[in-house]
Formats: sequence, structure tokens, C-alpha cells
Amino acid sequence: MAGFVFDFDEPSGGGRELLGGKGVGLAEMTLLGLPVPAGFTITTDACRAYLQGGDVPEGLEAEVEEHVRRLEERTGRRFGDHDDPLLVSVRSGAAISMPGMMDTILNLGLNDEAAEGLAAGTENARFAYDSYRRLIQMFGEVVDGIDPHRFEDALTELKQQRGARHDTDLGADDLRELVAAYKRIYPQFPQDAREQLMRSVRAVFDSWNTPRAQVYRHANDIPDDLGTAVNVVQMVFGNKGERSGTGVAFTRDPSTGEQGVYGEFLANAQGEDVVAGIRTPQPLETMHATLPEAYAQLLETMRKLEEHYRDMQDIEFTVEDDVLYMLQTRAAKRTAAAALKAAVDMVDEGLITRDEAVTRIDPAQLDQLLHPTIDPNARLEVAGKGLNASPGAASGGIVFDADTAVERAKDGPVILVRWETTPDDIHGMIAAQGILTVHGGMTSHAAVVARGMGKPCVAGCEDLSLGDGLARIGSHELHEGDVITIDGGTGRVFVGEVPLVAPQLNEDFETVLGWADDVRRLGVRSNADTPEDAARAREFGAQGIGLCRTEHMFFGAERLPVVQEMILADTEEGRRAALEKLLPFQQGDFEGIFEAMAGLPVTIRLLDPPLHEFLPAEDQATDEKMRARIRALHEQNPMLGMRGCRLGLVYPEIYEMQVRAIARAARSVGASAVVEIMHPLVGFAEELRRLRALTERVWAEEAPDAPHHVGTMVELPRACMQAGEIAEHADFFSFGTNDLTQMTLGLSRDDAEGKFLTRYLNDGVLERNPFEVLDQAGVGGLMRIAVEGGRAAKPELKLGICGEHGGEPSSVAFCHRLGLDYVSCSPFRVPLARLAAAQAALEEAGTVQYVAAGG
Ligand code: PEP
Ligand code: MG
Repeated sequence: MAGFVFDFDEPSGGGRELLGGKGVGLAEMTLLGLPVPAGFTITTDACRAYLQGGDVPEGLEAEVEEHVRRLEERTGRRFGDHDDPLLVSVRSGAAISMPGMMDTILNLGLNDEAAEGLAAGTENARFAYDSYRRLIQMFGEVVDGIDPHRFEDALTELKQQRGARHDTDLGADDLRELVAAYKRIYPQFPQDAREQLMRSVRAVFDSWNTPRAQVYRHANDIPDDLGTAVNVVQMVFGNKGERSGTGVAFTRDPSTGEQGVYGEFLANAQGEDVVAGIRTPQPLETMHATLPEAYAQLLETMRKLEEHYRDMQDIEFTVEDDVLYMLQTRAAKRTAAAALKAAVDMVDEGLITRDEAVTRIDPAQLDQLLHPTIDPNARLEVAGKGLNASPGAASGGIVFDADTAVERAKDGPVILVRWETTPDDIHGMIAAQGILTVHGGMTSHAAVVARGMGKPCVAGCEDLSLGDGLARIGSHELHEGDVITIDGGTGRVFVGEVPLVAPQLNEDFETVLGWADDVRRLGVRSNADTPEDAARAREFGAQGIGLCRTEHMFFGAERLPVVQEMILADTEEGRRAALEKLLPFQQGDFEGIFEAMAGLPVTIRLLDPPLHEFLPAEDQATDEKMRARIRALHEQNPMLGMRGCRLGLVYPEIYEMQVRAIARAARSVGASAVVEIMHPLVGFAEELRRLRALTERVWAEEAPDAPHHVGTMVELPRACMQAGEIAEHADFFSFGTNDLTQMTLGLSRDDAEGKFLTRYLNDGVLERNPFEVLDQAGVGGLMRIAVEGGRAAKPELKLGICGEHGGEPSSVAFCHRLGLDYVSCSPFRVPLARLAAAQAALEEAGTVQYVAAGG
């Protein structure tokens, strides 16, 4: 039988998927000879079998028992012994880290007698009873669902009675009394060590499916069927006294990427005290003075880990009586700025290559660098200050709990304000624009989770207090809904809205994207409808405009009445008269865009939407004629109706005017205008044949010598199937995957989201929203047919994509594999697309795809 359990130094034949991230880290650190407590890992296979079968798989219990025996031999202690007991922790650890989402139980193996034995053996009764009360609380909460507040209240009450400020002010007798109180709260606490262990293992397996874990997985695109591994680790104690403690550290600063260790340490404490953000930890460097040997060993260990993994690590450690133990190592979650800086530095240090640096950055995370920040010139009054836990600035109405955050976020931006966050707040954090907490350090739940999400967070803001439905900060009293601004880059909090500025791109960003440009094959263009968008796209590195939607130019205050006049006209003459007035506007728009993109191609798409979109709703119409026209234009399925090139064929004067405006603009701008005219929603070759003729005729009248290209959107399934015939009339194809998705899946792009599509996603019928992430099998299959058909008919045919998918990393990679010439996306996503395109090229070339840790 394949084993379900492996000692840390035992070959398992599996990696992260089998052992989980924590298990694999412990095994590797053990093999590297680093100080790791002994222990074993129960695999994700066992968890999956448990979740499927509803019970632990056959043989698991015996295997665990066998490994417990081995652990006893190694440590010279017995599990369940009363005099000198072996104690273990049970720690969850999935393949993809889900910080704080699943459960951990410490100090297993203690009971009434063993606590006495431990007190006598260590001559430290305080420590023994502190450990025991923690076990009862954690076990009660995790295994039997006892309300944690009941334990907390008992602790607070005792502290009040004793006049103790901190937990550490309580003595051995106090804690013995606390244990008695805890047992009154939780009388069914099992005394048998083996029962404790197996019930804990089951509880950790079960914690895979808690609502908060499910929400986290959905938000982070983690599959639901991975399951978690369980690590059973010999306990080492950070709560033995002042020569002990526990901490977390990063091998570089996770916010900035600066070199130099960075972390926090809490003396005389166990791990959960740090993560819970209950006591505020000290900077790591304080260990230098208090525990110099352990500190030196820690620095050396971190150096070795970076060298081994060739990446920035995030570690957990415990010091027991001045001896260091490593409990975890993993690729550090980091901000995009830190990821870029660390990658550039590591190339300089000779640790990684440029190509590896490119694969180290999560494209989706680049967004963060493009976050707004506070206008440095704004006159500000800082209301309070906390830790700069996650960069970016955000304004919004305050809300005090996660459910309200979700509710109110529907009406506008909110900032979630909490004493501290817990994993149960995850849905509120997702809904909020930013997070502000009173307690907690840089490694508190709020800080870690916000950084992962790329949301601004100010943590540990002690100037703030909460209560009675109010937030008090400085002299201000704020109610739910009052607006504040937080600056996660500096930790400042402001009352009211503060001017923000567009993000600044730094040198590391340019460096890494420069390396990306060196290796990518796909071109990257931008969708832009205005000269301003075009200029921004260019700044972000766009190599052209892949889609300029001309209808957006029809909506300006001076233009809409003219557009309506055109639509309402009864005759062609009437329409032409109105179009005549629109022409100079259009020409001016195109000149601006050609100038902004000087020398780079600009794809202009002729009018696409159904005409009713330019008219008001019937009950808002100004006169009967308009009402009649609105009724006449009404269609049951306008997206399948009179739109796209159908407009151009039925009302050729519209497209004629647009082509004329483009040609005149090209002529006036001169040779730097590189023009591509695109016809939308073509399904039949004959449509494009006629429209090309129209285009060429008008072009010859206006700018006979100016070069130009004519092509089509490919956004109907029929166009994909008949791509060869259509290509005969096209210089280029641009996949409009928004419509192509809608048409292929029979799924309305306007109505499905928020209705059954959301239900499908929640229920797991669909894993990803196909309007966001390209449906590679279905829509992608049609694209492949079109690419093959089009290129067979015309090898020089240029191919691109301009649907939303052109800015989504996995879809960009698909376009690379399909052999498209370029992707086109919104200006802010251009850097992301450049990086994703480079990663796709490196993956194809055999450079292993690294799962960037940032995301
Ligand atoms: C598309 O359909 O993918 C597209 C780019 O055009 P639009 O979104 O304007 O319909
Ligand atoms: Mg379209």
C-alpha cells in the first residue's frame, strides 16, 4: 500500500502537491541539515481520501501510530507519558499557502497528569500550565467548536482579578486555576494523547472546507479539490521564559524588497501570539541583544535558505532556551515593488538569471504598482498613523464589520475598520478598497492578506479606537459611512477624501519589463479611444493601438444631438447632412490619436453598437417622432441585430463618413500615421468584400497615396469557420473575444454576470468567468480554426486579439501558443501583458515556469 505518512527525512517521491508547502519546506530544511524539530507529514492523498470517504482512510491510523513510535525513539520521550511527555503540534499545510485559513493545534499530549510531569521535569510549572491551557483552548475551538470568547473571557477575568496587564504577568498558580476554569468551559476535553492526535488530524482535514477557506480559495483561484497535508511536529517551546520566544522573518523586506533581514520576535510566547496580533511583537533586531547566539544562527540559516531556494523566503522559527528551531520556510509573499526589487538585486548578486527574474514576477500583481498614491503636493492633516502594511492609497466610507463591507461596497468604496482582522473577515476584505486595524504588526493577518490582495492596508493604528458604533481618531468621531483615506505606503490615515495621483513607475519596473521585452514574441498593443489614453498606453510600453472604438467619440455633449439627428433622419440626405457635421469631430479625434502614437499602428474600428444605444429610453424621449423611432429600432436581441458591419452595409453613408475622417486625418498628420481600418462583426466573406470596396473607394478619393490596411474583427463563430474566405478580403484579423465568447457560449455579456453566471461560478459548474479568462477549449478552439484557415489562405495575414482577454495572463499565454502577432488590452494592463507574453515565451523555450509567490 502506498504510504500516507512520511518522516521529514524520509523520501516521499512527492513534492508540494503531496506534502503541502509546509511539509515540503520542513523536509527540505531537514535534508539541508538545518535545525528542524523531528516530525512527519500526513499527505494530501490522505486528506482527499478522508474528504471523499467521510472518514480517515484505512490503515492511516496504524501508519500514524508507527510514525509516532519512530518519533518517540528519536526524541527519547513517550507520547502520552505522564512524567516526561513527548508533545507534538499538528499543523495544516496545503500545496498553495492559505495563510491563517486552516487550523493548527499545539501542545498535544498534555493532560492533567502530564502537565504535572512536565512542570516537575522542567521545574517550570508556569510553562507547563501555560502550555496546557493553550492546548485546551485550541483543541476546544478547533475540534469541538467551542466559542473562543468563552476562553478569552475567563483569561481576561483572571487577569483583572490578579491585576495583571499581560498574559505573561500570570504565575503558575494563576495558570493552574485557569486550566480548571477552561475545563469547566470544556469538560469533554479528552485526556488520552492518541485520541487528541487523531481528532486533531481529522479537524485539520475538515478545516479545508470551512466557509472562510472556501472564500479564500475562490478569491485566489485555488482549486477546491487539492486538500491539505497535516504536519505532526515535535513541540519546541517559545513560552519557556525570557530565553525563549517565537518569531517570523523575511530574508528581505517584503514591502520594498530591500536587502537585509526583516521580521518580528516575541519573547516568551508561542507562535499563535504573533499571528493573532494580540501582543505587539518587537523588531527582529532586538534578538541581537537578548539572544545573541540564536540570532546569529538565525541569520546564517536565512542566508543558507536564500542561497538554496534562490528566492526570498518567509520563515517561522522558535527559540527554546537559546536554541533555534526552524518551523517553516516558504517563498515570501511580497508586494509587486518588492518582487521587482528583489528580482533585480538577485540578478546583480548572481543568484538568478534575467530570464528567471522575468518568471519571478506575477503579472497580475503588477497592478499594484499602478495603484494610486496620495498626491505629494496635497495639503494634508494626518488624523492618525499606523504601520504601512500594504501599499497604495484608498478612500471610502468606513464600515466596522465584514458583512456590512460587502453590503455597502455595492454602493461605493468602503474601508474596513477593525480592531484586528481574522480569517473570518476575508469576504469583507475582498469587498473593501482598503483595510485599517487598531492592532497587529506587519505580519498580522490584516497585513499579510492585504499585501497578497494588493490592497492598501494600515495596521496597528493605535491612534484609533472603536466602540459604540463609532471610530475615534484624533479629535474626530466617525460613524459608519463617513469617508476616510488611508495610505498603506506610509501608514497615514486622513479623515475625508484626499487627492490621489496616478502611480509612478520605478526603475526596477522598467528594468524587468525591459528584460521581458527582450524575450517575448507577442507584440503588445493597447485599446484606446482618446489621445490621452493613447499617450498613457505608450508610456506603459504599448506598441500600437489594437482597438479604437469610434462609438465612444459619438457621445460627447456637442456630438450626441448630431448623432441623434442622423438616426432620426428619414432620408439618406438627412443622414448625410448630419454626418457632415460629425466628420470634423471625428477627424480631430483621429489626428490626436495618430499624433500620440506617431509611427505606431492604430487600428480604428468603424461604428459597432446598435443605434438605439444613442437614443434615450422611450419614456424620456423629447417628442413623438423620437418615440416612434425608438420603437422602430427596438429589437428583442439587439446584440444579435442591427449592429456592427450590418450598420455599414445598410447605412453605407455612416462608414463612408468615418473612412473619410480617418483618411483626412492621415493626410493631415502625414507619414507617421499608420492606419488600420477594422470592420466589426463580420460573419460572411461577402460582407467584408463589399465593405472593403467602400473603404478603398473613399480612401482613393481622400488620400490616394497614404498607405493603409483594411481588416476585420473576428467575433462570430461563423467567421472562425470561414476564416479562409474572409481572409481574402482582409489584411488583418483581430479576435473580438468579448463577442466571440458571448456568441460561442450563448451567454449574454451584458446579463449573465451577477445572475446565473455568478451562480455557476459559486457552484463550481464553471471554474472561471469566461469573460475574464479565455475559454481556451471552446472559444480558443474556434480561434485556432480561424488562425489556421486565415493563414492558409493568406500567410502574411496579421493576427491579434482585442477582447478583454488580451490583458489576462493565462489568455495572453494562450495567444502566444496560438502564434498571434499581438495582444491588445487596456493601457493599465499593458505592462502585465508584456510580462505575461515574456513568461509564455520562456515557458515554451523550456525555462521552467515558476509560480510567482506574490499573488
Ligand atoms: C470584442 O467583442 O471582443 C470587442 C473587442 O469588441 P466590443 O467589446 O467593443 O464588442
Ligand atoms: Mg465586439
